[in-house]
Amino acid sequence: MDFQCARCGNCCRWEGCVKVNDREVDEIAAFLEMPVEEFLEEYTRLRPDRTGLSLTEAENGSCIFFEDGDAPRCRINPVKPQQCRDFPLKWNFPNWQSECKGKLIE
Ligand code: SF4
Ligand code: SF4
Repeated sequence: MDFQCARCGNCCRWEGCVKVNDREVDEIAAFLEMPVEEFLEEYTRLRPDRTGLSLTEAENGSCIFFEDGDAPRCRINPVKPQQCRDFPLKWNFPNWQSECKGKLIE
């Protein structure tokens, strides 16, 4: 089973943690050409369960790296976290098709 993303951006718009681990922090900071400490300060927060870090959110609740508009896009797409790569097929998310415009491909 494969999945074709329609690039609607909905999965980047809703509120919630976008988990990042140490390796992902290093990769994203390098991609943005920022020192890791600066990246951590500006773009991450402690997750509510205190088990690790999440990317921060914009004022409207979307991911801080989401650019909305006619062609929504992820500013860190080449190095986006595994959590984002795993959506929707590896998420335990009933009814994901009501939010996601992508298609399953047999
Ligand atoms: S990192 Fe990119 S793909 Fe992941 S939620 Fe943020 S904007 Fe979306
Ligand atoms: S909600 Fe689905 S179709 Fe829309 S961007 Fe996310 S994965 Fe792609």
